[in-house]
Amino acid sequence: MVFIKPILLDAPNLGELEKKYLCDCIDSTVVSSVGENIRIFENKFAEYLKAKKAVSTQSGTAAIHLALYELGIGPGDEVIVPVLTFVATVNPIKYVGATPVFVDVDPETWNIDPNEIEKHITNKTKAIIPVHLYGNPCDMNKIMEISKKYNIPVLEDATESLGATYKDKFTGTFGEINAFSFNGNKIMTTGGGGMIVTNDEKKAEHLKFLVNQAKDNNTDHYFHPEIGFNYRMTNLEASLGLAQFERLPGFLNKKRKFAEIYKQGFENNEKITFQKSYEGAISSYWLPSIKVESHKTIPEIQKELKEKGIPTRRIFPPIVEFPPYKEYKKEEYKNAYEIYKKGLNLPGSTMNDEEQIEYIVEVLNNV
Ligand SMILES: *Cc1c(COP(=O)(O)O)cnc(C)c1O
Repeated sequence: MVFIKPILLDAPNLGELEKKYLCDCIDSTVVSSVGENIRIFENKFAEYLKAKKAVSTQSGTAAIHLALYELGIGPGDEVIVPVLTFVATVNPIKYVGATPVFVDVDPETWNIDPNEIEKHITNKTKAIIPVHLYGNPCDMNKIMEISKKYNIPVLEDATESLGATYKDKFTGTFGEINAFSFNGNKIMTTGGGGMIVTNDEKKAEHLKFLVNQAKDNNTDHYFHPEIGFNYRMTNLEASLGLAQFERLPGFLNKKRKFAEIYKQGFENNEKITFQKSYEGAISSYWLPSIKVESHKTIPEIQKELKEKGIPTRRIFPPIVEFPPYKEYKKEEYKNAYEIYKKGLNLPGSTMNDEEQIEYIVEVLNNV
């Protein structure tokens, strides 16, 4: 089959609305870090999630870094994270001088296993970071129960799960301070950017102050009572964000439709299993993901698919694969390694059409 449009893995979907809002922003000359659209974007974002406050940042990584900083986490503290995630979940733990404690994931949902969390809690544990991997919500009831039982705050890495819900509540609104990303390949984009979401108004106010060099806005000169950061979103980025945000429901519908086509298409194929969701969870399906049982390796399958015009990506390597985290014992993360070995991300970009997804299903079933 020949398609006029190429199949895209995770490319952003940008159009006339984005051009209009960006041009309006440029015409206004207010392109930098003061500008109405930043505040409007933050307010709309918080309102959509039914959260009290949202504070925009330069990236999802910056959002996670600041969330840890605001929780007062530092040297000597331990932070629990899944071993199967993008490296940007973990590096900020190092930025604040704390120690990541890796936990294996569930073999079916690919998310942090709550039973394993409990086993790794010590008197040094100061935060738990559940990651809603590829948009799939974690078992938030169990995780919040553990959080309450041990009085340890949760910081959700919701960078891949904007719009996903767990028992009718949006991911990124369970934890004390939570992080979103608007990188170019995420559910929606600002080019690069992030958002911190919290129901704690005091913390939100302090975070807003920290992102802006901890500048005291009550004086008319430059006065900085604390050490701050330059983690501000720009008005240009927020303008792009507002356009994308209007289109978010459409993006989510399309991604969910794609996921349905994939799931149905692989239903009778016992060699392919789709990443499973917990009961009551609805994924954003950022990247539709499968596990493949085959005598072929994943790179071999990828090569065959590529020849047929289908881009794919391997699952993130477990973090303990990387040199800065090499002191951890790989044997403890069997499920993550199994998913890494057999897993595959399929095209999820909303630039694709349903016919293209049907074609991918057909090709994969034959490979
Ligand atoms: C994308 C991503 C981040 C970081 O977001 P950036 O905006 O790229 O800094 C963090 N964690 C996970 C799981 C991600 O996928």
